[in-house]
Amino acid sequence: MGLFSGLEEIGMGGLTNVKVFEDEKAKLAAAQKKRKEPVELKEVDFIFDKTYKCPVCDKEFKARTVRTGKVKLVGSDSDLRPKYQFDTLKYDAVTCPNCGYSVLTRYFNINPTSGQMKLIRDNVCKAFRGIKEPGEIMTYDDALTRHKLALLCSIVKRGKASEKAYTCLKMGWLLRGKSETLPKDTPNREAVIKGLQEAENEALVNAYEGFTEAFSKENFPMCGMDETTVTYLTAELARKIGKYDDALRLCARVITAKNVNDRIKEKARDMKDLIYEATGKKES
Ligand SMILES: [Zn+2]
Repeated sequence: MGLFSGLEEIGMGGLTNVKVFEDEKAKLAAAQKKRKEPVELKEVDFIFDKTYKCPVCDKEFKARTVRTGKVKLVGSDSDLRPKYQFDTLKYDAVTCPNCGYSVLTRYFNINPTSGQMKLIRDNVCKAFRGIKEPGEIMTYDDALTRHKLALLCSIVKRGKASEKAYTCLKMGWLLRGKSETLPKDTPNREAVIKGLQEAENEALVNAYEGFTEAFSKENFPMCGMDETTVTYLTAELARKIGKYDDALRLCARVITAKNVNDRIKEKARDMKDLIYEATGKKES
């Protein structure tokens, strides 16, 4: 019976066949198999509840938040909309469920002035009737509601043009994301997509107007972007909404800017080509 002989007499007969050392080869194979089948992480695996303290009503609340640095960037659109393995943009606005104060997360730490607080309390909080808690992950509709409230708060508090523009831009991107991922079995799918595209265009028109206003009133960096990036972005927004002359004028500024990386100049040249193609005009 070997190493364990005799143990069966004290009831351990069933265990006397155990190995002292596990088979290393089998262990290695099992480990390799595990490595070959990486666990696919889903959106919910990147989300946690972050605690905020509302500057308007002083109450603490939790909001779904993306763990930064863990999500892979997979590309971007011509208007700089970043694309990750799932749409992280849905988590970029927070709403206090108690009073309705809403803002893009990037501005959360900039507290409204006392005058702005009063405007928000009088015009938003007094009318606010609560907001539906999202599920484990934020749907596009959850996100759009929060972004709309953030835009409303930025208007009511007479916020900067760039903040309003950036909020509109993010709404446009969300509407695009919703349209791109609309389930195949959505009733009247074509009409719904058309409606989403029209709403996106309206958001981009407002973003364009806001950035144009911000150019003359604000300093750079703006919304975390340097002057050339905002110029390029505004040019692309102008192109998308059909303001080709404005787009070309802004493109020229990007192309002739000094100390700018070649990639953004290249993008501006591509945009110019697209406009010439669309209008049938040639470069003069
Ligand atoms: Zn609040």
